[in-house]
Amino acid sequence: MPEQCPVCESASTAAFFELKNMPVLIGTLWETAEEAKNTQTGDLRLLFCADCGFIWNEVFDASRMAYSATYENSLHFSSVFQDYTADIVSRLVDSYDIRGKDIIDIGCGKGDFIAMLAEYGDNRGVGFDPTYVGDRIDGPVAERLRFVRDLFSEKYADLRADLLTSRFVFEHVEQPVEFLHLILRGLGDDADALIYFEVPNVRLILEDLSVWDIIYEHCSYFGPESLSAAFARAGLGIYDIRETYGRQFVSIEARRGAADSRPGPWGDLAQLTGLVARFEAEFGRRIETWHDRFETLRRDGRRVVAWGAGAKAVGFLNMLELGDAELPVVVDINPHKQGTFLGGTGQRVIAPEALVEYRPDAIILMNPVYKAEIARQVADLGLAVEFIGA
Ligand SMILES: [Zn+2]
Repeated sequence: MPEQCPVCESASTAAFFELKNMPVLIGTLWETAEEAKNTQTGDLRLLFCADCGFIWNEVFDASRMAYSATYENSLHFSSVFQDYTADIVSRLVDSYDIRGKDIIDIGCGKGDFIAMLAEYGDNRGVGFDPTYVGDRIDGPVAERLRFVRDLFSEKYADLRADLLTSRFVFEHVEQPVEFLHLILRGLGDDADALIYFEVPNVRLILEDLSVWDIIYEHCSYFGPESLSAAFARAGLGIYDIRETYGRQFVSIEARRGAADSRPGPWGDLAQLTGLVARFEAEFGRRIETWHDRFETLRRDGRRVVAWGAGAKAVGFLNMLELGDAELPVVVDINPHKQGTFLGGTGQRVIAPEALVEYRPDAIILMNPVYKAEIARQVADLGLAVEFIGA
């Protein structure tokens, strides 16, 4: 019996990727290498729906996930990401005239995004996040912001909203259409808030064979095809879908009761189907290539570190089973991550300045988008290294 697609209910679904024993909490900071290495693991079995393009982990077990306030997933410390976010803020505020209005942000993290929206458009905002720890927003904008340490639901239907945003939440949701219905109920029956969602773009993962972007915490994987399918199913009219940030993300702008801005379909389902087939065939080869590369580096006695202690690094190191003997440390510019340890393989996270002590010969860039920024920092430290893109 094929599994039914959680987005479009089609039975044209098939498994194409399996992986055992991946750390379930990618963003969790561990205080000791011991704790990091003993972190809980889970399995992945990804299914693809040939009718809407949705990809999901069929053996995902939400009970393994326990988000806590130590969950540190803020990309906010990179200036590249900050510029990108500022562009989204000005575009949303300017094109939809979100000024002096009310905004709700679902999964607000530390509140960076909603603070920027409130600041730029002189708006009021309520951020929802069960892991919210409020200590980073200051200035006059703080008075127009409120944070709720809870999941958004119909409990909050008395709140009004002209714009509802949610960045990097939908990929953690097992039942996407139900989640959208929950949000619409939370907004109230007659609400017509503009809805803005942003998620990792599975098309790029498949095209680039970037297998490290497949992580346990993400039970759902969207491209333009499935994102539009889920929103359409929930009765939302789609204004725009964009592949952004070097195509790493895909965003959607939609509104209940609105007409689609153009006739569908969004994306290219036939091409996506081909990418899934290729990914299935190439995954093993990709892992082998990296094992060979590390073997060569080891034989040549070259010291290797990684840069970027995010989800990609945890996926990369665990899929390649690279312990702290093969790769001792991972660099990250986020001071909240420094001094902690990566789940599963147990590498210590260090500040860029500490590289002077390690004198690496090569740095694996977990996210090549930041190459120019990283190369500049490394040059400033007086280090000459080879950069390898992950
Ligand atoms: Zn489907």
